[in-house]
Amino acid sequence: AEAHLKKLDEHRALNAFITETPERAREMAKASDARRAKGEAALLEGVPLAIKDLFCTEGVQTTAGSHILEGFVPQYESTVTANLWKAGAVMVGKTNLDEFAMGSSNMTSYFGGVENPWKKRGDNRKLVPGGSSGGSAAVVAAYMVPGSTGTDTGGSIRQPAAFCGIVGLKPTYGRCSRWGVVAFASSLDQPGPFARTVEDSALLLQGMAGHDPKDSTSAPLAVPDFAAAARNTDIKGLKVGIPREYRVEGTAAEIVALWDKGIEMLRAAGAVPVEVSLPHTKYALPAYYIVAPAECSSNLARYDGVRFGLRVPGKDLIEMYQNTRGAGFGKEVRRRIMIGTYVLSAGYYDAYYKKAQQIRALIARDFKQAFEKCDVLLTPTAPTAAFAAGEKMDDPVTMYLNDMFTIPASMAGLPGISVPAGVDKDGLPLGLQIIGRSFDEETMLRAAAALE
Ligand code: GLN
Repeated sequence: AEAHLKKLDEHRALNAFITETPERAREMAKASDARRAKGEAALLEGVPLAIKDLFCTEGVQTTAGSHILEGFVPQYESTVTANLWKAGAVMVGKTNLDEFAMGSSNMTSYFGGVENPWKKRGDNRKLVPGGSSGGSAAVVAAYMVPGSTGTDTGGSIRQPAAFCGIVGLKPTYGRCSRWGVVAFASSLDQPGPFARTVEDSALLLQGMAGHDPKDSTSAPLAVPDFAAAARNTDIKGLKVGIPREYRVEGTAAEIVALWDKGIEMLRAAGAVPVEVSLPHTKYALPAYYIVAPAECSSNLARYDGVRFGLRVPGKDLIEMYQNTRGAGFGKEVRRRIMIGTYVLSAGYYDAYYKKAQQIRALIARDFKQAFEKCDVLLTPTAPTAAFAAGEKMDDPVTMYLNDMFTIPASMAGLPGISVPAGVDKDGLPLGLQIIGRSFDEETMLRAAAALE
């Protein structure tokens, strides 16, 4: 813990933490030492972890990257973090993120952007770490901690993992409890780990996962031995689906080449690549940007200046609401609340929201049919490497396109993992994604480990 706290000092300029908790880390490490001395070491005993500032942590400020929650100190602990502490892990702090997890760059945080520890060769410009869990990805890439937690609604674990050259795992929807995680789009949000190896990500997932009666969408399943699955790299005969529709224009040539290299690596390890079709892929992104804002507009209605964080007074209650929400939410969050409110309103609901839900069902069916022919899917994680800080900020659609490879699996609730698989011509890391069957993270981990 001390060694890692020193790393926090060294890399403070990355702006990866919103709150550091060195005292709590020392306290937890001491308790961990005592357990170890008694021979009671648990799964993650003494492992220092950083927590995305979207997970409620008892007695420690939780901001969701928003001004509206500044100063909010939860009186309870999220189930996922409680599970991690039970497994012996040690919290070093809360990491920076896009406001309410809405974004792909970390530039929408009220607390300022996070800097990617990687730079282009011979170019000193700051790059984004991806988002929304960019802080959690940067701290692992910079060796400030060996692991961290993130949440993935449409790619927020996998895309920053790819941008930062580490492993990011989004479990099946329902594998990890959402209780105590600040909600963005409840039918899509899913907590998961960041780590530097597939095996470490499996260990962390094992510590985070499990049924939780406090989350009605939590799956009543036992937690498998994920770490054992990650150690088993035997993929002889495993059928790896290559979805034809993911060969889209606009993907960097190097990423297409990396994808081909990944196919060859898995083939060399004994897997059998097969071409599959996911015909509704191109509708996933537009449907996501209806479903996610719709759910966000409903979830964020609770920030009214009465119950949480910021309050900006007004002459009456309505004006107080307006002042608080106007000052408390950033531009991207306001944009999504407006889109969401619009698509849910009478007269537009059938035209937009209902259509998007229908598309979602078709996307899930596409995957189901593809998985009759293969065991996992292999795709790129993102269409580009990390970009410069500030880029794409004036064009939300280009920003949204970052998630074109991660969103379809999110819409279907499937598990996905991003594994660092190479670098581009500037020396920046690139990732490949393995998508698994519902609740079959084990096969996904096995294929991911074969890519390392
Ligand atoms: N970038 C996507 C969005 O802005 C995904 C975010 C996420 O997964 N939390 O909605």
